[in-house]
Amino acid sequence: MTKKITLLPGDGIGPEVIESAVNVIKHVAEKFGIQFEFETRLIGGISYDTYGTPLTDETLQTCYDSDAVLLGAVGGYKWEELPHHLKPEAALLKLRKSLGLFANIRPAKIYSSLVDSSSLKKEVINGTDFVVFRELTGGIYFGEPRGYDNDKGWNTMIYTRPEIERIAKLAFETAQRRKGTLTSVDKANVLEVSQLWRKVVAETAKNYPDVELSNMYVDNAAMQIVKDPKQFDVILTSNLFGDILSDISGMITGSLGMLPSASLGTRYSLYEPVHGSAPDIAGKGIANPIAAIASAAMMFEHSFEMGKASELIIESIEKALKQGLRTSDIAQKGDKVVTTQDLTKAIIGNFDLIYNEQALGVFTL
Ligand code: NAD
Repeated sequence: MTKKITLLPGDGIGPEVIESAVNVIKHVAEKFGIQFEFETRLIGGISYDTYGTPLTDETLQTCYDSDAVLLGAVGGYKWEELPHHLKPEAALLKLRKSLGLFANIRPAKIYSSLVDSSSLKKEVINGTDFVVFRELTGGIYFGEPRGYDNDKGWNTMIYTRPEIERIAKLAFETAQRRKGTLTSVDKANVLEVSQLWRKVVAETAKNYPDVELSNMYVDNAAMQIVKDPKQFDVILTSNLFGDILSDISGMITGSLGMLPSASLGTRYSLYEPVHGSAPDIAGKGIANPIAAIASAAMMFEHSFEMGKASELIIESIEKALKQGLRTSDIAQKGDKVVTTQDLTKAIIGNFDLIYNEQALGVFTL
């Protein structure tokens, strides 16, 4: 059956990195014998310039009609003075809300050939490979009442049982496919909302006896991530804590150009690099495509249940890095600096090599 993917390249380097990701997806599809149909729509500044709004109803409908959405990035200097609701970034918030994307997933994986680029010591960072599940549509960012007056400001951190259960289930299922450990991060020593969080997570854990659950306070978690990141496998946390912890986790493992993300809902899913539209390098053909390609790998895993394809893509990226190929954002003295296209071609070439090696392995069994 043909699967439909909506492409939203957006602004700046968005179209450049999405082109790379699509080339990889097409290649994987051919190898694995599956069919994808792509539909490309405008989003962000380019949509504003064309239609007078950063997100049209037609674009949204195309997303509703698809099996997965792959987004590049939005924004740029040109649109900075627009009113809030017309800014390119407003499209992202509307899209995430309309698609009901309640779980944001960000892997923190160090590629062995980039250990020297980390801000942490080699022996601390080497081998780090965990994933942060951040609740995305609830908690203090959305809770009512909220506001401020001259003398006080207030927000409400609120979670309901179903909101906690649905993201906990996703995180436990992922832990089952990984190393089988899950750390739930909260502030249950101070916040009642965290006490409910902890209780519901513990109850959910009973359905996953093969996953080992532990709890950690958020202040300790922040410390542990920089002290000993290897101890983590899956981190599950709320919107506010996840916002902070996923940024720390991402940055200790590499540059912005390397970091993929997935946002999942009950029916829809969106995949996007963590970085923005990088207007300073747009159009030069030098953007790092790895974040977008790794986002496509997450799409294979979470939307199409093709974990093997996902693994092969990540291995192909790792191999290209081991071959010394770098875009300028991750290059160090002595590295071979290549273009977006060259790095993409190398990753596709590596995919073929690894795929063929593994196929031969099967035949010789
Ligand atoms: P940015 O992520 O676009 O760029 C920050 C720095 O990282 C720049 O020097 C850029 O050149 C570099 N960089 C980012 N991605 C790279 C890549 N793939 N390869 C090589 N270098 C890369 O953040 P910014 O400069 O703060 O924001 C630029 C615009 O992007 C703004 O309009 C902002 O609102 C928007 N933005 C959009 C998203 C999104 O679409 N999800 C996220 C963040 C920022």
